[in-house]
Amino acid sequence: MDEIIDVNQNKIKVAGIYEESDANGPGIRYVIFTQGCPHHCPGCHNPETHDFNGGGYYKDIDEIVAEIRKNPLLEGVTFSGGDPFMQAEKMGMLAEKLHKYGYNIMTYTGYTFEQLLTLSNDTNHFMDLLSRSDILVDGRFVEALKDEMNNEFKGSTNQRIIDVKVSLLLGMVKLKDIRAEEAEPTKFFKNKYVQEGFAS
Ligand code: SF4
Repeated sequence: MDEIIDVNQNKIKVAGIYEESDANGPGIRYVIFTQGCPHHCPGCHNPETHDFNGGGYYKDIDEIVAEIRKNPLLEGVTFSGGDPFMQAEKMGMLAEKLHKYGYNIMTYTGYTFEQLLTLSNDTNHFMDLLSRSDILVDGRFVEALKDEMNNEFKGSTNQRIIDVKVSLLLGMVKLKDIRAEEAEPTKFFKNKYVQEGFAS
């Protein structure tokens, strides 16, 4: 019997990419918008990313890493959506490769941190991505709580910017003050996780 080969095995279904952005997390970042989201938040800015079957295109994980490494200005990579946890196994693989080169990972999700822990299993691989994210911006977008003036990096005030590694260690959510850390560059920039031994 012929072997069935999954041609998209090492690929991520992407809705779009910003090769360089200073508006999607701290510092200059490469931003990947994944295709597919189950949350359907009213007022979502990226409705074209919701459909799991339509839209988007497949991009090889190693090709993404190579593209990122070509730009010396990049300090980190942001996974946005869609919901990156819908491709948690492959996004986790990508995050692991990027950590080895010293990039920090910021991941957006419509799930809360607590939901990710509760729902995580061997099929959805949520922990593969959660444990390799440095920062998580969690929770659905709530239009009534939209507050652009005071919510840099967040869509609505219910969402939280979470220090994932500390939160997993403590077993409770620890918020991250990105602005305070940006004022103290050595605490955040590109080589932080290599220097402090956090590379996973
Ligand atoms: S989780 Fe994000 S991408 Fe998904 S519907 Fe909500 S705002 Fe849109």
